[in-house]
Amino acid sequence: EIAALVEADTPLAHWPKRFFAVSNNVHRSGLLLGDLETREAGLAALFARGGPAVLAEVERAGLRGRGGAGFTTALKWRFCREAPSENGHADKVIVCNADEGEPGTFKDRVLLSAYADLVFEGMTLAAGVVGAKTGFLYLRGEYRYLLDHLEAVLARRRAQGLLGTGIGAGEGPGGGFDFDIHIHLGAGAYICGEESALIESLEGKRGITRKRPPFPVTEGYLDRPTVVNNVETFLGAARIAEHGGYWFRSEGTDRSAGSKILSVSGDCARPGIYEVPFGTPVADVLADCGAEDTQSVQVSGAAGVTLTPDEFHRLLAFEDLPTAGSFMVFDHSRDLLDMVRNFAGFFAHESCGFCTPCRVGGRLVLDLVDKVAAGAAGRHDLDELRDIAQVMRRASHCGLGHTAANHVLNTLDKFPHIYRDRLRMSDYTPSFDLDAALA
Ligand code: NAD
Repeated sequence: EIAALVEADTPLAHWPKRFFAVSNNVHRSGLLLGDLETREAGLAALFARGGPAVLAEVERAGLRGRGGAGFTTALKWRFCREAPSENGHADKVIVCNADEGEPGTFKDRVLLSAYADLVFEGMTLAAGVVGAKTGFLYLRGEYRYLLDHLEAVLARRRAQGLLGTGIGAGEGPGGGFDFDIHIHLGAGAYICGEESALIESLEGKRGITRKRPPFPVTEGYLDRPTVVNNVETFLGAARIAEHGGYWFRSEGTDRSAGSKILSVSGDCARPGIYEVPFGTPVADVLADCGAEDTQSVQVSGAAGVTLTPDEFHRLLAFEDLPTAGSFMVFDHSRDLLDMVRNFAGFFAHESCGFCTPCRVGGRLVLDLVDKVAAGAAGRHDLDELRDIAQVMRRASHCGLGHTAANHVLNTLDKFPHIYRDRLRMSDYTPSFDLDAALA
């Protein structure tokens, strides 16, 4: 049935409900991706009911940030709305973080290809709620090919009066505000996905993270109060404004309302974009995507968690496995040390170089992993690998360095054989239980 729909090049709007993704063009329907018509109903609600009412719906929905960390969206918007500004509300800023750089994450690319109107609608809603005039879409450099499409959508929205001056004037108490969106292209640096480095980059500076607090909601772009949200968060907000907070809460768990869009890749029959209710077990996603003989799943990207099969009952939710959406499947044909080498190479390359633990640590980790792969490492090398990974986690300047060696620590504990089998003297057993140490 899926093959027939693909063959017939069926328009997205005609896909049946509750379908599974098999490619970037086919979506399982759900809360966010289910009803594919864009009618600007969220903006109509803003015009008719006003910013505070829309903010109350987002609050009621319990929407949490979809970039991975899960901060409460309504709180972020409220902080920004209430942040003092020199010039009334005129100098506040809305930024959509589309610098999707986490390995294995590609849902924002698909959302921007197929649902750009909803994303821009969500940004405009945020502007109406917090009182911002300026918006930026920070687009990952590698997604440059989307630029013409996105600029065309923005131009159409300006022509429709959905961007520019006097948006929704005369349509209710929430209409009549000014807001426009500019697209800023990144240049391929992973660090610029971190919001404060992104803001530095927007300001024309080198992408280095700022100390937080102050958070962007009070001092962001050019020190103005700034909302930075992920692509999927804005899309979710547009849906919530349209359907209401209770509707959104109809799926998910207590602390993780709604659904999550996943980028599923690797050893499975049907990789692609999936929308699943929060609280879905890993095993269900594996069944949906046609994964068999799975050795490990990497949830939340290279900086995330490496799961063993006896963890596949765990739930995709902020209370168990928080994720920005990356879901990479490895079957038993894979040598997980290849994964470790790949991730170690990625982080050594992507360190911004600002702090020593990350800049030097990442390089040393890569060298040691290469040494293991070459069969030249001894047990002391593994102890050193663990030590360096711990230093990176504790002493790095920002989240990139804190998480860059997660995969090493995870695999040392959970898949020790991938290291042990290659030691000069095959005598390695992990020296302590990482989970217990972290608890
Ligand atoms: P964080 O928890 O520090 O902050 C999350 C958001 O909440 C930020 O926007 C921050 O400004 C805001 N915030 C937090 N505390 C606040 C406060 N007291 N007042 C106002 N605002 C506040 O997390 P982070 O460092 O921004 O992001 C880390 C996450 O990024 C990780 O979960 C990781 O999975 C994810 N990540 C995603 C990608 C991707 O491609 N999507 C890539 C790398 C990392």
